[in-house]
Amino acid sequence: MLIDLDNLADNKPPKKYDVCVCGTGPAGITVARLLAAQGKSVLLCEGGALEYTEESQKLYDGKSIGINDWDAVKNCRLRYLGGTSNHWSGLCSYFDEIDFEMHPNGMSGWQVQRTDILKYFDVAKEILDLPKDAFHIANPWRGYNFKNFAHAMSPPTRFNSKYLEELKKSEKIDLFIHANLTKIQLNPNSPNVQYLQFTNNKKQHFTFSANQYVLALGALENARMLLANNTQLKEGIGNRGDMVGRCFMEHINIRYGRFVSENPSYWKNGKLHLNPSANLIKKYQIGNGVISFDPEFNAVSYGRAQALKQAIRDLICKSESATDLSRKLMDFDCPGDGVITSLIEQSPNLDSRVTLSANERDIFGIPKIVLDWRMNRYDERTVRTIGIEAAKEVAKLGIARVKLEDYILDSTKPFIDIGHHCHQMGTTRMSHSDKDGVVDVNLKVHGLNNLYIAGSSVFPTGGGCNPTFTVVMLSARLADHLASLKQRLI
Ligand SMILES: Cc1cc2nc3c(=O)[nH]c(=O)nc-3n(C[C@H](O)[C@H](O)[C@H](O)COP(=O)(O)OP(=O)(O)OC[C@H]3O[C@@H](n4cnc5c(N)ncnc54)[C@H](O)[C@@H]3O)c2cc1C
Repeated sequence: MLIDLDNLADNKPPKKYDVCVCGTGPAGITVARLLAAQGKSVLLCEGGALEYTEESQKLYDGKSIGINDWDAVKNCRLRYLGGTSNHWSGLCSYFDEIDFEMHPNGMSGWQVQRTDILKYFDVAKEILDLPKDAFHIANPWRGYNFKNFAHAMSPPTRFNSKYLEELKKSEKIDLFIHANLTKIQLNPNSPNVQYLQFTNNKKQHFTFSANQYVLALGALENARMLLANNTQLKEGIGNRGDMVGRCFMEHINIRYGRFVSENPSYWKNGKLHLNPSANLIKKYQIGNGVISFDPEFNAVSYGRAQALKQAIRDLICKSESATDLSRKLMDFDCPGDGVITSLIEQSPNLDSRVTLSANERDIFGIPKIVLDWRMNRYDERTVRTIGIEAAKEVAKLGIARVKLEDYILDSTKPFIDIGHHCHQMGTTRMSHSDKDGVVDVNLKVHGLNNLYIAGSSVFPTGGGCNPTFTVVMLSARLADHLASLKQRLI
């Protein structure tokens, strides 16, 4: 059933629920649907509308004070039904075995086993519309220190258009829109959430309760909501160890340089995406990542006198010395040349974090976010080592010659234009105790009995892979866990 909180007459939910899920991105919708499939009643609350509105998006406003003043707070998220899946690109991958180990920088690793997550591999494939043979690698890489990056493309699945009708028709799920989570009320006598407060666009408040609660608001909002609820616990909810908001991670997207492909038969399948092997990661004590070689076989000339320019290009490209000279003088591509792109793991770093603004609040009175995204020397080593070792490897195999940027080769030079992938992770990390994280192996907030977190905020490390496939697998696992609990209807 679909209910618009803007039109609800009184402060009474239609019924008692087993689980209340806040947020309708890939995490929230997955938890809700899979709980409903197991007979549980679900209250699913979305702050935005069915479509994009400025009014809702504005509630994501905040400030970036970290690297490049990069505005991830504003630009990387969508606040309406389906969440950020409304503009994700659909590239799917999953974590390597080595990503689950304690991080070489001393921060704890994953509490859950990789095999426990991969149990939900086929479920996630179906949810994200991946083909049955997704992740099958037809041409294994025959290198030394790198391996093929196992990836697959979702269409990309938009959780809004794909699941709206099912949610509307569901007898088990009540989907509320314009239901902005504005308060988490704890029971004064026990370590439980007592109720959640939602506020509609008319600023009317509603209190809903359930047996279990799940926050699936995305990595920045999950942390914001826990920190902002600081009237009962002055440090915020789940923040006894001062870990909420810390270890914000992205995947670093840095310009490595260019390459000239050699041995054309090698490139007949196009792009090459490589991961460092576990041996390489261990040898250099670095993080994971993906480095991609993207040859351009249609290097063409444009503009006036196009035909003449193209004829000159073809001529130059026939001669190695003329090509080298041209490359020295200008940006010059022959067919098969290309740029190197990247997705590099960032280490969990206590200083890279989300905090609350001291003086700016949204229209509901919730402090806005301040994001301080930082890299450290450990991350710089990961970036440089992966670039240099991959360049050596493709040269050794005789398939490409690489020209790396100066700042990759020279560690005294600062990186230029550090980019990101809109993969926001790590602000409520999974851990053994509240000393180094916020949620336990079942994604339950440490110290509370009935509050859970879904989404990439729980990742203790970011790995060298796109996060959403793992977000969906973890959400499916969370649904199973919640469904298995002995429920006490309130
Ligand atoms: C341009 C772009 C490209 C991307 N490409 C890829 C890719 O190729 N591969 C990949 O793996 N990942 C990609 N991602 C990342 C991917 O979109 C996220 O990993 C994924 O959407 C996270 O899902 P989520 O449910 O945790 O959060 P979200 O999708 O952000 O959902 C959060 C939900 O919470 C709701 N909400 C927020 N605050 C409140 C509140 N107070 N009350 C009620 N509801 C609230 C929001 O409206 C939203 O519905 C991309 C992201 C971007 C921006």
